[in-house]
Amino acid sequence: MLKKTEGIVLRNRPHLDADLIVTYLTPSYGILNLYAKSPRKIGSRFGSSLEPLTYARISCFGKEQATLPRLTQSDIIRTFNMLRESTDSFIGISEILELTLRLLPEREPNRMVFPLLLNMLLSLEREPGNLLYLTFYKLRILSLAGFAPRVGQCVRCGRIAGRFYFSEGSTVCRSCADTADGFIELSPPVQRVYNYLMRTGPATVRRLRLTEEVHSGLEALINSHINYTVTGKLNTREYAEGLKTL
Ligand SMILES: [Zn+2]
Repeated sequence: MLKKTEGIVLRNRPHLDADLIVTYLTPSYGILNLYAKSPRKIGSRFGSSLEPLTYARISCFGKEQATLPRLTQSDIIRTFNMLRESTDSFIGISEILELTLRLLPEREPNRMVFPLLLNMLLSLEREPGNLLYLTFYKLRILSLAGFAPRVGQCVRCGRIAGRFYFSEGSTVCRSCADTADGFIELSPPVQRVYNYLMRTGPATVRRLRLTEEVHSGLEALINSHINYTVTGKLNTREYAEGLKTL
């Protein structure tokens, strides 16, 4: 059957000689892998529309249960070229694309994630230096996938607690904690901003100005939680860290 939807390219991988498997995030089908026949041939109808981050109107064809439906049409709505070509933002964006792929099951609609990603890309295009958009996306996709850190109260007794324990995915107070476990100390401003961002919309992120210290505290919380919860480290983060030490 023929399906039409919108999608954002999360990645593409070579398949056989000249073909590609393109992975999309779509509003109606969630993560969708499609097979594109000879897209790199000169004059291919796909042109540059299969590059990561491209937002396009797509059609695909395949039996209902086919593992790899065939991409039949792809019309670009927005290229996000500027973000793809900037090394600084693209490393951060690659990380969240990989996180999205790891957290979401294939072909399970999640209508909240698609607008979240689209909004983040549009915001970052408008304000390329504001990396808080990436932080906000990570925090919200963890929440939508059911993996959000719990911050503020001890998960065991409900008292106010500032130490975040990786094994609990939560803050735990000193009397309840097993001190052998790994934790990071969260400052009160980091806790406040975290809980604020969990309830607010992307429009607020635009107006929010955080100190470097609070933003990096927030990143440390989210990244250590991701590293502990989502199998191993994300490859892109290692890649980015490798670049820093060069
Ligand atoms: Zn406690």
